[in-house]
Amino acid sequence: MNQLILDPGTFRRLDILTRTEAGMPLHVFSWQKGIQCWGRAEQQKVLVLNVPTPDGYCSEMMYLIDIANRIDMDQFVKKSSHPWLDNGEIPLEKVYEWLVWHEIAHVKFGDMNAWEHFKKKGFQLAWREHLKWCTELRADRYAWGKIAPGKEMPSFSKTRESREAVKKFDATLKKYRNDFELLRRDRITPISTNPNEYVPWFHSEGLPFVQTVN
Ligand SMILES: [Zn+2]
Repeated sequence: MNQLILDPGTFRRLDILTRTEAGMPLHVFSWQKGIQCWGRAEQQKVLVLNVPTPDGYCSEMMYLIDIANRIDMDQFVKKSSHPWLDNGEIPLEKVYEWLVWHEIAHVKFGDMNAWEHFKKKGFQLAWREHLKWCTELRADRYAWGKIAPGKEMPSFSKTRESREAVKKFDATLKKYRNDFELLRRDRITPISTNPNEYVPWFHSEGLPFVQTVN
């Protein structure tokens, strides 16, 4: 398997990023064969230890950003099932950073509430699926802008079909701009970047870094 492994230094750097930009700690999970996902945001609230308070420390249920301890690069590239970004074009040394910025974008845009929001508005399932892809396009663009500012996103939109597909997603984003604005989080409160604070309970026994043999 052609795999990319998360090293402790990269983790620490990206943990500071999620704490500062999304107001939540970064959690590393052990990737298993068959899992088609290497990053997630706000899946469910989990126990976080050493949360500083005026009187000391407490534990709190919080949302996290999750990333996998390793990435099956063949699958990651194959998973580019959308027309706007060729995952294989993301520089290898930037893949983890891109992944984390993508999840931060979902937090900033409030995408986790989009599904419920549009459901309440009576949107049919197929439409909500379409809207979900719109939020993926937006998060990918945001992340690409962070790792390669000013550079065009390497996409598959060389064909007419794919260009038309992207146009459709963009038209939807524009059409429901007000709804998306409502969901967006104006202000995110950063949390402490001290690694001994805001420790996801899952990490209390150590982080699941993959051991590499040299
Ligand atoms: Zn996403």
